[in-house]
Amino acid sequence: MAKRQLSMVMDLNKCIGCHTCTSACKTQWTNRNGREYMYWNNVETRPGDGYPRKFEEMGGGFDDAGNLKLGKEPAAEDYGVPWEYNYEDALMTGTDPWLRSNVKPTWGANWDEDEGEGEYPNSYHFYLPRICNHCSNPACLAACSRNAIYKRQEDGIVLIDQERCRGYRYCVTACPYKKVYFNEKLSKSEKCIFCYPRIEKGLPTACAQQCVGRIRFIGYRDDQDGPIYKLVEKYKVALPLHGEWGTQPNVFYIPPTAPSGFNADGSVSEKSRIPLTYLESLFGDQVKPALDTLEQERNKRVAGEESELMDVLIGYKHSDMFKLA
Ligand code: SF4
Ligand code: SF4
Repeated sequence: MAKRQLSMVMDLNKCIGCHTCTSACKTQWTNRNGREYMYWNNVETRPGDGYPRKFEEMGGGFDDAGNLKLGKEPAAEDYGVPWEYNYEDALMTGTDPWLRSNVKPTWGANWDEDEGEGEYPNSYHFYLPRICNHCSNPACLAACSRNAIYKRQEDGIVLIDQERCRGYRYCVTACPYKKVYFNEKLSKSEKCIFCYPRIEKGLPTACAQQCVGRIRFIGYRDDQDGPIYKLVEKYKVALPLHGEWGTQPNVFYIPPTAPSGFNADGSVSEKSRIPLTYLESLFGDQVKPALDTLEQERNKRVAGEESELMDVLIGYKHSDMFKLA
């Protein structure tokens, strides 16, 4: 157990799927030295197959009795083989191909962008940004026979000691979120480091700092004045992704609200456009109470009343969304 735990909440109602977070992370950490294929931060369209492809079917995590389960290691094609765009020819002369010919991609991060599900006018999709959850019960750590993975006492960030790692990849198979990546060039496993060099300087992670939709909050789980405590514990509107996998994630999501759907005769339906059952399959059985709370608090604001929850979620000042001390 770490003494304190840093945490992130992402408000899915504000994510516009711009991938600025992904670019911020990639340019800072993973555009070189065997990391080219990795997206420590990715943004996937839901419903969809996710990244790596169908990772939710690959297993890992813990069973109900707390026993570690080793899952599958994704194949290179499940992540997507990195490719280069042929900018010079495509933009300057208009000739194809867009892609350089060394690779013919069949999958990549967010390959199924904006597809979603349902038939017009009841079609729907939303975006799900994902990083390592810096879990309180990390399956990656439990699986490592070299004791190379550790949680920092001061903030609970989960890191891999590169000196100890021998590249056995048990962590890759054990993490059900598939947020540990194998670097073939260095023969080491690597993962999101919660931008700890920035955190140590009092700065938020690059993905949160650059987030165009300002969906990301960062703070300590036990800071009752901070946004994380209010969203997770006080109002209970922020929920873990697949909490049933048993790793106790420290990244939480405000589930997306949606407009009503339409009946066959064109009248407005009572039902939300996004099926509750789908949201529950991702975020568990507390989705309905969380959505109800969000609606009640929003209605307060509409009626001209105060709502601390809405004030927190709006994040009037970007700096108020991060409480790093
Ligand atoms: S999300 Fe995966 S890699 Fe990150 S701490 Fe949890 S088990 Fe480990
Ligand atoms: S930068 Fe923010 S709004 Fe844009 S995709 Fe990432 S999380 Fe969503």
